[in-house]
Amino acid sequence: MKANYQHILEELYHVIKVIPDGGQVAPYIPELAEIDPNKFGVHLATTMGEQFGYGDHEEKFSIQSIGKVLSLTLAFQQKGEALWERVGVEPSGNPFNSLWQLEYEKGKPRNPLINSGAIVICDILCTLFDDPLHDLLAFIRKISGNAEINYNDEVAASEKKLGFRNAALINLMKSCHNIDNEIDEVMDLYYHMCSVEMSCTELANTFLVYANHGKIVSTGESVITSSMAKRINAIMQTCGFYDEAGEYTFKVGLPGKSGIGGGIVAIHPGNYAVAVWSPKLNKKGNSVKGMQLLEILTTKTGLSIF
Ligand code: GLN
Repeated sequence: MKANYQHILEELYHVIKVIPDGGQVAPYIPELAEIDPNKFGVHLATTMGEQFGYGDHEEKFSIQSIGKVLSLTLAFQQKGEALWERVGVEPSGNPFNSLWQLEYEKGKPRNPLINSGAIVICDILCTLFDDPLHDLLAFIRKISGNAEINYNDEVAASEKKLGFRNAALINLMKSCHNIDNEIDEVMDLYYHMCSVEMSCTELANTFLVYANHGKIVSTGESVITSSMAKRINAIMQTCGFYDEAGEYTFKVGLPGKSGIGGGIVAIHPGNYAVAVWSPKLNKKGNSVKGMQLLEILTTKTGLSIF
């Protein structure tokens, strides 16, 4: 379907820009707390190679938990179905850094998109690769078609210093024998994965691979099978917004992932990937304006997976 996305994005941007949102910029680390709350950008890339963007769509931000989808993809590519012995595929219905369910379920995280699940994925990558920091970044650069994508070492160090809940999660899992490597090494990879910086343009183009059945649009190379892409999309849909996954699905109707840097990326299989950035978050840790924009986008275009 051909749509005038440029016109739609510009219209939505201006409508949503002025809606009072009442959200709060992520307070966890100074690097995120100091971001200008009024930043707002959107970019949509299609599987046909078309590009549409508006606002601060070329400015880089911390993708945070959106990176969990990329590390999951590399681990799934390497391990196949054996991956699910270590981490489940059920929505958690709990906040992204919740502890109690993990103890109750004996250290096996509900899914790979909550913090505990993403930490297990990083443990698996630490076992698979001699230099997981290098190999994960090389993988992200490959699917994004962009050799400039990088970690932000200051953001990673700051999170590591202040990540007390994540330290509790990994220690609990280690005590349940679901972490094989040194805690420090695993957390170093986890925090670097969260510190990756991308603009909306880069994020949308990176996530096109999930809209394109696992093939990189620019090169045609298959990084995962179409069945794997389908499964990752299903996990994004059911788990990508933590305890707001139902509401997000209800309002937006596209597989997507949020991060506490204020980014959200969503994909329409076979069609497009769209990334929005607005740093103010709701109480569940998801960008307020990002959700609003995607809700109206799918309503207006009639394009959702449902
Ligand atoms: N780095 C953040 C954390 O570990 C990621 C959380 C998020 O984006 N939801 O808490």
